[in-house]
Amino acid sequence: MKFWDKTAFELHKLLVNREISAVELLSSVLERVNEKEGDVHAYLCLMEESAKKQAEEADLRFRKKERITALTGIPTAVKDNICVQEYPTTCASKILEEFSSPYHATAVEKLLDSGAVLIGKTNMDEFAMGSSCENSAYGPTRNPWNLSCVPGGSSGGSAACVASGEAVSALGSDTGGSIRQPASFCGVVGLKPTYGLVSRYGLVAFASSLDQIGALAKSSFDCGKILECIGGYDPKDSTSAQIQISDLENHDDFYDCPEDKIKNKIIGIPEEFMREGLDPEIKSAVLQCALTLEALGARIEEIHLPSLKFALSSYYLTASAEASSNLARYDGVRYGLRISKDQSGKMFKATRSQGFGKEVKRRILLGTYALSSGYYEALYLKAQKVRQLVKQDFDKAFQKYSLLLTPTCPTPAFKIGEKVSDPLAMYLSDIYTIPVNLAGIPGLSVPVGFSSSGLPLGVQLIAPQFHDFTLLSVGSILEKPSQPVP
Ligand code: GLN
Repeated sequence: MKFWDKTAFELHKLLVNREISAVELLSSVLERVNEKEGDVHAYLCLMEESAKKQAEEADLRFRKKERITALTGIPTAVKDNICVQEYPTTCASKILEEFSSPYHATAVEKLLDSGAVLIGKTNMDEFAMGSSCENSAYGPTRNPWNLSCVPGGSSGGSAACVASGEAVSALGSDTGGSIRQPASFCGVVGLKPTYGLVSRYGLVAFASSLDQIGALAKSSFDCGKILECIGGYDPKDSTSAQIQISDLENHDDFYDCPEDKIKNKIIGIPEEFMREGLDPEIKSAVLQCALTLEALGARIEEIHLPSLKFALSSYYLTASAEASSNLARYDGVRYGLRISKDQSGKMFKATRSQGFGKEVKRRILLGTYALSSGYYEALYLKAQKVRQLVKQDFDKAFQKYSLLLTPTCPTPAFKIGEKVSDPLAMYLSDIYTIPVNLAGIPGLSVPVGFSSSGLPLGVQLIAPQFHDFTLLSVGSILEKPSQPVP
């Protein structure tokens, strides 16, 4: 029987009523993996054996009616930069090919506590650097809606496996758009939580001041249930926010009558996001959403965020600078790959030259340059000042507006190979998502329909810090139930 096309919420009801078992659900999803994986290549590794045990344990919880949560028995995938103990964590890089995690990431630990079934580790751009999943050292993932197109990135494997029914939901990470952009390319919901709300312990660092673990699922409600599970203070992460998920605005009833909550809210559409370069079908999808919200009693206004034009430059300097420092640890001594036994600089050089891909090397070079004496003030420091300006623009906007509505990406999914030789064109696909990471606020991408060529379209909602559940509540109004890929 097929269950893979249902949301976690629908499956939860079937599981609780014992209409299906977690073991049956897992087999249905694994059958779908067999059917689709040859085309899609969403996974770098499957965790079938442990998943089967977890599904049996979940069934035991249902039988005993003990410790049942919304995620118990739900097949969930994990991006391959998030540690699952005793399984490989490669970050889709050759340099970590042989590396297995000695511990669970906090988010993974919490999923397991809630009884989720972890099905596999998903493909991604190497070290989460990229927007198309083509920077994986293990070959690209394909968009399940059109196999000649990219699924987006860097969490392309997580988005593709949810869209194709190879998992019910997934964890991803978002440094500049890596959850929201692939979610919009694949027609699923993607949540980048407020910075600090989900522990980064066990997430391999790319740019620590921007990275955030979040959820990809078939509905805003499902994303909310994942956030409830993985969020909250963690002493193992020094940047973790001292806040309980249950204290967040709109948390208790984020799924009850969302339509009522939108009345009299003022929602801004930043004019800077709607200019040329934006695909006309995406633009009209955003305007259509504005009409839907207006019909429910919201007031929609055009607003200006003048510093947004600097966001991309600030991001690529900041993220690359942090990456150059974070990736210094891959030297052949401590982790994964080691080329040559020579215990001198030659071994470092050979290991790093052969272990890292082209884009990762480009970022390390850019970041090292931006941090070097003589350029530090002109580049890195300037990027930090600009980051503050971007944050101030949002702070000011949120004094009046409850939410912002924008496109998630300038275009629908592009063709595989179309942008690989033009890094700047690739960087531009995150132009609408990056400012959110710079400001540390939450962003949500929801699927709202399809382009004339049959590709999914997404819109983005942005809220002030810790208003993650407000986003999910409004997202649930706008989302068009994600159709299953044939
Ligand atoms: N595409 C952006 C980059 O390449 C964002 C990546 C991400 O969010 N991890 O840096």
